[in-house]
Amino acid sequence: MVLGLDTVIGQKGRFCKGLKEKIFFLMPDNNHKLSVCMLASGSRGNAVFVSDGSTSILVDAGLSGIEIERRLKSQELCPENLDAIVVSHEHFDHIHGVGVLSRRFDLPVFITEQTSRAACSHIGKVKNIVNFESGTSFAINSLTIHPFPTSHDAEDPVGFTINLDKTKIGIATDLGIATSMVKEHLKDCSLLILEANHDKDMLINGPYPWELKQRIKNRTGHLSNEESKNLLSAVCHDMLQHVILAHMSETNNTPEKALNIIGPALTNKNIQLSVATQNESGSVIHLK
Ligand SMILES: [Zn+2]
Ligand SMILES: [Zn+2]
Repeated sequence: MVLGLDTVIGQKGRFCKGLKEKIFFLMPDNNHKLSVCMLASGSRGNAVFVSDGSTSILVDAGLSGIEIERRLKSQELCPENLDAIVVSHEHFDHIHGVGVLSRRFDLPVFITEQTSRAACSHIGKVKNIVNFESGTSFAINSLTIHPFPTSHDAEDPVGFTINLDKTKIGIATDLGIATSMVKEHLKDCSLLILEANHDKDMLINGPYPWELKQRIKNRTGHLSNEESKNLLSAVCHDMLQHVILAHMSETNNTPEKALNIIGPALTNKNIQLSVATQNESGSVIHLK
């Protein structure tokens, strides 16, 4: 069941709770705009909810299925309304709940072949695997998704841009380095989810073993605050509405340090800068 555009139920921009049908609260001026919710971000689990009101997907599902359901419901989002899960790479913090959620809600899993092979023992049997290729766009109903390669220590890691009409969001975490290809893809976004993993000094002086510090710092590890600032400087523009700093280390970074270092890269005071957290869901962001 799909409600007409002139139908207004409840609070603008909120999604229904507990309904099996695809019913969303539509307002004429809020129709077919992208909404984004950071359900979790960090080395203990990542999941991003993206919806245009008729198609809803998860980009990664790196918490347990039950915890992802709980976080969706905490933001009045219905797990039953999900259409698909899209996977960036096989690391556990991105796939932990993929199999359970796919089986529970009969969701197709969009994943590259190499990632699928690397992740299959953990994901288990799912009915519908759809292989995409890094660098080739694909559609899930109304959403156009473009996976682009990233430099990260996984089999075939990708970041994503998701387009709806002229609105574009970029999801770029688990970046070893911000290559010029990554920068090219992240141009002209309305919302950016950007990795800000560690503060270099905190990492160097912190408690991690030397090998792990090297792994994080190197070209296939994670972006520091400084590197994230440089990436944002390269892609920031005045139509950007939101920047969400993500995959932040709980040991080697603080939200204050990240915001202080990366904030000056914003070209416009109206751009909202926030930090996604590990332990609770962010609120739903509706793009203009
Ligand atoms: Zn990873
Ligand atoms: Zn990760």
